[in-house]
Amino acid sequence: MPDLGAIVRDIAEEMREHAYKGKVADYIPALAAIAPERFGIAVVMADGTCHMAGDAQQAFSIQSISKVFALTMALGAVGDQLWQRVGREPSGSAFNSIVQLESEHGIPRNPFINAGAIVVSDILLGRYEPREAIGEMLRFVRALAGDDSIVIDEEVARGEQETGYRNMALANYMRAFGNIRHPVEKVLGLYFHQCALAMSCQQLAMAGRYLMARGRNPDTGRSVVSPQRARRINALMLTCGHYDGSGEFAFRTGLPGKSGVGGGILAIAPGVASIAVWSPGLNERGNSLAGTLALERLVQATGWSVFEPGLGQAIASE
Ligand code: GLU
Repeated sequence: MPDLGAIVRDIAEEMREHAYKGKVADYIPALAAIAPERFGIAVVMADGTCHMAGDAQQAFSIQSISKVFALTMALGAVGDQLWQRVGREPSGSAFNSIVQLESEHGIPRNPFINAGAIVVSDILLGRYEPREAIGEMLRFVRALAGDDSIVIDEEVARGEQETGYRNMALANYMRAFGNIRHPVEKVLGLYFHQCALAMSCQQLAMAGRYLMARGRNPDTGRSVVSPQRARRINALMLTCGHYDGSGEFAFRTGLPGKSGVGGGILAIAPGVASIAVWSPGLNERGNSLAGTLALERLVQATGWSVFEPGLGQAIASE
């Protein structure tokens, strides 16, 4: 087994040269204010060991990575019925695109584009009142990470609310097709708050462990989702987790991953590791530039890819 601690430190060192090359999201002041040269990485292994480097303990806005946790909760609430209202195909479009919705009758392509995540929020409101849903989401993420210090950044949530015209358009448009059933303000209130979850790479990698561990939370041994559901969520992350850059991300890393416009990426090496990287500078598709490069380097150094035969066994027997 290569020395993972050294690999992670070398990656963080190399990324100092790349981090500033990306463009920080500037649609809200709270994100625009983040220095582009930040970089953090955390790798949590199946046996619980954690390797970190750079700004791995600095909280950042997880934004669309929250769509993974929201989907997991909504599947828990309504099961596979969810798929009657959201598709499972890569969109090939930007995260906030509205064009496909018309020809596809208000059914979003997948749960990881904004339209899909907004339907997922609507589904959660079938189970909880808006405030309760936000509280449940926070509790869920804290339990997954084993960390009660995780919070929602209210300034980010307010910024999303104040600038979220496109998301409002998406929600209203889907409401016209009957695929949003609760008042749009309530649905978006939940969506904007989940996007405003603030987490560090360490907390995020910890929260992603159930996707590495066949659906189980390694802290409690309890099932968060069934092994089949964990596989399916990973499959969606691989095919749809980076918007119109999903193919490129899969090509470069071979790992399921979900990005957020705050510059974070959660990536899963099933059976092996849960990985989080953060660098706020984005590439032209709105995905972390240095974060993607860092994951590519990690895979090159370790051979972790879902397309590597016997990935899990090889590591387990090291
Ligand atoms: N809050 C952002 C939006 O809905 C999330 C986008 C992202 O992280 O890609 O516009």
